[in-house]
Amino acid sequence: MNLPASPAHIRIDSLTFDYGGARPAVDALSFDIAKGEFIGLLGPSGCGKSTTLRMFAGLLAPTAGKILIDGQDIVSRPSWKRNLGLVFQSYALFPHMSVAQNIAFGLHLRKVGKEELASRVASALRAVRLEGFAARRPSELSGGQQQRVAIARAIVIEPEILLLDEPLSNLDARLRDEMRFEIRDIQSRTGITTLFVTHDQQEALTMCDRIAVMNAGRLEQIGTPAEVYDRAATPFVANFIGRANMLPAVLAKAAGVPQLVHQGMTLPAPGPTDLPPGASEGSELSVMVRPHAIRLKAGGGGLTGRVTRRVYVGNIIEVEVELPGGQNLVAELRPNSEEAALAQLGSETRLDWQSSDMRIFAA
Ligand code: ADP
Repeated sequence: MNLPASPAHIRIDSLTFDYGGARPAVDALSFDIAKGEFIGLLGPSGCGKSTTLRMFAGLLAPTAGKILIDGQDIVSRPSWKRNLGLVFQSYALFPHMSVAQNIAFGLHLRKVGKEELASRVASALRAVRLEGFAARRPSELSGGQQQRVAIARAIVIEPEILLLDEPLSNLDARLRDEMRFEIRDIQSRTGITTLFVTHDQQEALTMCDRIAVMNAGRLEQIGTPAEVYDRAATPFVANFIGRANMLPAVLAKAAGVPQLVHQGMTLPAPGPTDLPPGASEGSELSVMVRPHAIRLKAGGGGLTGRVTRRVYVGNIIEVEVELPGGQNLVAELRPNSEEAALAQLGSETRLDWQSSDMRIFAA
C-alpha cells in the first residue's frame, strides 16, 4: 500500500469485505486518520460506507485487511472491547428510560460508581446542551434533541473513536443545518476522533477535516474539503462533489506548446503540471470546469456558443450554453453583472475560464 511509514492513530490497511457479490462491497480500502480528526466517509448509496463502518464497530469481520489503532489490529477484538461510541440515523434510544438513564446505560455496563456516573452524565448533558432535560422521556423530545441524547450516550463512555452513521438524515432540513454545527462543535470540544458516514456532499464539505470519497467499494480520493472540491483526483470525485462540466478535448501542440482543442476551438492553455500522466499529442482528454468558473464575454478569444437556457435562481443566474458540436456547458453568473446581461436566451456568446480553474483527466 502507498501509506506513509509514520504510525497513524488509526490506519485502515487494505480493508476488504465480500458479501459474495460480483465485486467486494469494500475493496482494499487504505487510509490513515490522525488523533482528533473528523473524517467523512462519502459516496453514493451502495458504495460500501456502512459496510466499512460495521467492520469498525465489530459487527462484520473483514474478509481481508486490518484496522490498526495505535498500531494494534482490532479486527479480532469483539465489539464490546473496542471502546467505540456509535450513533445511528435511528437514534435507538430506550423509550422507557429517561434521558439521564439512557445516557448512563453504557456507564452501568462498565460498572462506573454512582458519584462518577452522575458527574459524567451531567457533563455529557452539558456537552450536548440538554441540561434541563435529564428527567424527560425520549418521546417528550424533538428529533434534534433525541439525536443529541444519542450523541451524549455515545460520548459519555469517553470512546477512542466516535462512529456516526448518517446521523442527520432523519431530521428536517433546518434542524439538519443546525445539528451539523452542533455535532462539529461537540466533536471539537471533546477531541474524539470521529468517522462520519454520509451520502450528502454538502454535509461532508461543511463538517469534515478530511473526506474519504468512495465509489464501488474503492477509495477514489481522500483530502480536505478544498482539496476534493478544487483538486478532484478523478472525474468521479469532480462529478460527485459539487457541479462539474465535462468537456472532451484533444491534446495538440502549437509551436511546441500544449493546447487543448474542442471541435476546432482552443480552450484556455493547460499549465505544465495540469496534464494527466502519459498524455501526448493526439491524446483524448476530459476537461472539467465548475459552472461558477465560466465567464461569458462579448468578444475576444475562447469558445463560442449559443445561450439555450437561462434560469434565475435568486443568488445566481444559471445559463446553459450550447457549443457548435452540441455539447452543453452550464455557467453560474451573478445577477446584475455585465455577463448576465450578455446571456440572453438565443444569443451568441464567447466563453472563457482561468487555466487554474480546470482539471484535466484522461478520457
Ligand atoms: P452504503 O452504506 O455506501 O450505501 P453498503 O455498505 O450498505 O453501502 O453496501 C455496499 C454494497 O454491498 C452494496 O452493493 C450492497 O448492495 C451490498 N450489501 C450490503 N449489505 C449486504 C448484505 N447483507 N448482503 C449482500 N450484499 C450486501
